[in-house]
Amino acid sequence: MAKGKVLIIGAGGVGSVVVHKCAQVPEVFKEIMLASRTKSKCDKIAAELPRKIETAQVDADNVPELVALIKKFDPELVINVALPYQDLTIMDACLETGVHYLDTANYEPKDVAKFEYSWQWAYQDKFKEKGLMAVLGSGFDPGVTNVFTAHALKHHFDEIHELDIIDCNAGDHGLPFATNFNPEINIREITSKGRYWERGEWVETDPLAWSMTYDFPDGIGPKKCYLMYHEELESKGLKRARFWMTFSDNYLNHLKVLGGIGMTRIDPINYKGQEIAPLEFLKALLPDPASLGPLTKGKTCIGCLIKGIKDGVEKKYYIYNICDHQECYKEVKSQAISYTTGVPAMIGAMMIMTGKWSGEGVFNMEQLNPDPFMEKLNIHGLPWVEKFL
Ligand code: NDP
Repeated sequence: MAKGKVLIIGAGGVGSVVVHKCAQVPEVFKEIMLASRTKSKCDKIAAELPRKIETAQVDADNVPELVALIKKFDPELVINVALPYQDLTIMDACLETGVHYLDTANYEPKDVAKFEYSWQWAYQDKFKEKGLMAVLGSGFDPGVTNVFTAHALKHHFDEIHELDIIDCNAGDHGLPFATNFNPEINIREITSKGRYWERGEWVETDPLAWSMTYDFPDGIGPKKCYLMYHEELESKGLKRARFWMTFSDNYLNHLKVLGGIGMTRIDPINYKGQEIAPLEFLKALLPDPASLGPLTKGKTCIGCLIKGIKDGVEKKYYIYNICDHQECYKEVKSQAISYTTGVPAMIGAMMIMTGKWSGEGVFNMEQLNPDPFMEKLNIHGLPWVEKFL
């Protein structure tokens, strides 16, 4: 295992940001390889960078292919920003080659829209036995929101009782309908049942059945947010944990019609002798999220609203980041959703490669020391603000 070498897998919207941001920190990421299913996408990103990186073609569903590539490049860490379907194969390849692992989204089987950590937590002993570290969910949500919560618990609360993670995208790309990250993964998530944690058990809701209006800071103003299930809610120990995301009426109307006519189904149908999953076909029609960069204007605001107790007194606290779509595009040619995911992936990788985070086994972000990560957020483009309410 060579020091300072990182292999990034996945040359999509998020992968592009991860590569740009790693390239900005040559003292940590001395050598970078970007590999993906389509090598030309890697080469296009490589051509935008101020320094030289290596690129390669790989099918990340194929463990022997991954193992061969990892052995050839000999990295210290693999950053997985392909799709959640590839999490387990990439973890298997890391185990076989003795390399640390980091991702931004938990494993999902292709044929069931079910996302949870159980499959990856099952790798705990294997990573421990090999003396390797796997860090799960180092994006914004999951990712930074877990670190925000760990920071709040470490510095401001004795106990946290209620957590609301609120994700607002107040950006506008001017297109009739587009998703901000991979359309297939995004629509699977949004059309799933909602779920939140309360008094020791899960409470289930119909998809997007619950909403609230939240008044966001920094000129964004009031927006309607919908309750959804999100994997970071599995990091429990709280009386109540919920996840909310804003959607425009236009977005929801399109989704309702698409769902109503069966276009969001993930089970294959037979069309002219060929098996096609309608959602995969829809993905092929929708704009590539990476193409939204030059079009999107406005800001995102993602943060945690926390209630708990310090020194016997009840406290309410809000910690958040504001990110401007156009500023992100100026810096790395991507919109803010890819940016807010790619920057934390780079910082998580930096934590492992500089030894700030170490350990053997599989870790969620809130289990690790929040302080060095919080410091790097301010330096690398995602400054945070905290307020007592
Ligand atoms: P994209 O669809 O834009 O990019 C995915 C990339 O992975 C594509 O380049 C694709 O290649 C490549 N890929 C897919 N399958 C394979 C394979 N079998 N082998 C090799 N490469 C493959 O997705 P995004 O960049 O928007 O999202 C990336 C990840 O980030 C997803 O897992 C997503 O869930 C996660 N995410 C996490 C967030 C967070 O805050 N935690 C927020 C947003 C996203 P090709 O182009 O050739 O198909």
